[in-house]
Amino acid sequence: MHGHGTRQLSPPRSLTTVEREILRKLVAEISGSVEVLDCQTRHVKVIEECSVGCGTVALAVDEEACPSLDNQGGAPSSGLGADEHGSPIEVLSHFRDGYLRMIELVRLDGGLARGLPPAHL
Ligand SMILES: [Zn+2]
Repeated sequence: MHGHGTRQLSPPRSLTTVEREILRKLVAEISGSVEVLDCQTRHVKVIEECSVGCGTVALAVDEEACPSLDNQGGAPSSGLGADEHGSPIEVLSHFRDGYLRMIELVRLDGGLARGLPPAHL
């Protein structure tokens, strides 16, 4: 899991265009209800960001608006790419209790990831 601290956002913010794009790609790999996944990606906000700027974000889905996804835990989907400086990274989506909770970036060479890759995932 993400090893850095996070800082809470108050109020929560919407996903950036890049975050949304990445999330769509990650979610497309997940087996489960497409409707539920689509709902969650539309009703999600960023509630925490990595305090050192690696790009990892903690998410909160509006649980009133969307049902939970069955049988999901841990990190069901990941993709490989490069960050904006060309460093190799893995991006993972984490679910807990059937709801999307985090987009995590891990730099594969052990360095610090610096943000999400645009479209090379
Ligand atoms: Zn981080």
